[in-house]
Amino acid sequence: MVEYLQQYGIIRSKKVAEVMEAIDRGLFVPGGSPPYVDSPMQIGYNATISAPHMHATCLELLKEHLQPGMHALDVGSGTGYLTACFAMMVGPQGRAVGVEHIPELVTSSIENIKKSAVASLLNEGSLSVHVADGRLGWPDLAPYDAIHVGAAAPEIPQPLIEQLKPGGRMVIPVGTVFQDLKVVDKKLDGSVKIRSETSVRYVPLTSRAAQLHNY
Ligand code: SAH
Repeated sequence: MVEYLQQYGIIRSKKVAEVMEAIDRGLFVPGGSPPYVDSPMQIGYNATISAPHMHATCLELLKEHLQPGMHALDVGSGTGYLTACFAMMVGPQGRAVGVEHIPELVTSSIENIKKSAVASLLNEGSLSVHVADGRLGWPDLAPYDAIHVGAAAPEIPQPLIEQLKPGGRMVIPVGTVFQDLKVVDKKLDGSVKIRSETSVRYVPLTSRAAQLHNY
């Protein structure tokens, strides 16, 4: 899978190749689904684990902001796959936080992470996953060098912009039917620059009730 993503130029760095080799997607995909096929998979609760090429794209966009010791927030952490990748990159001195609003997914993501190469970081406390509305971010560990949002918001939630550190970067899909993956850079003077990276299709960043009842 990693070789395929390298061949197609989606993984461009050694760092991202290494982390995607180390965090085995097979541990995060529900039993019965083929884990190394480049496509999203249903994980229940109207949620999906993103396709490997989307995980790789986001890791490439965020890698400079996931250096050892940095703080990373993964909103809509789902299976926990990217949270685990972030934890490996920021290491024991950093903090990787997942926020997910479906309690059952938080529980299963913690089980997945416990089987993975970053289980020790979960025990030591540099990696954590919480049940909460990710549109509000996770103020306790702000500001963040890197924020990833794994579900599409109609517009960028203000609390997430506020919790981004000057010099930090957020990657967030924005839109309803047509969505763009936006790259939000907060400059050192606090000003914010936003550009579109590519067209994408994510599940919505919404309320728990709307997600479970499909409205
Ligand atoms: N990166 C995850 C993506 C999971 S799909 C992965 O690859 O496994 C998007 C996730 O966002 C779903 O799990 C969904 O439950 C969650 N989500 C949607 N709206 C949310 C909200 N307001 N707060 C927290 N999580 C939310």
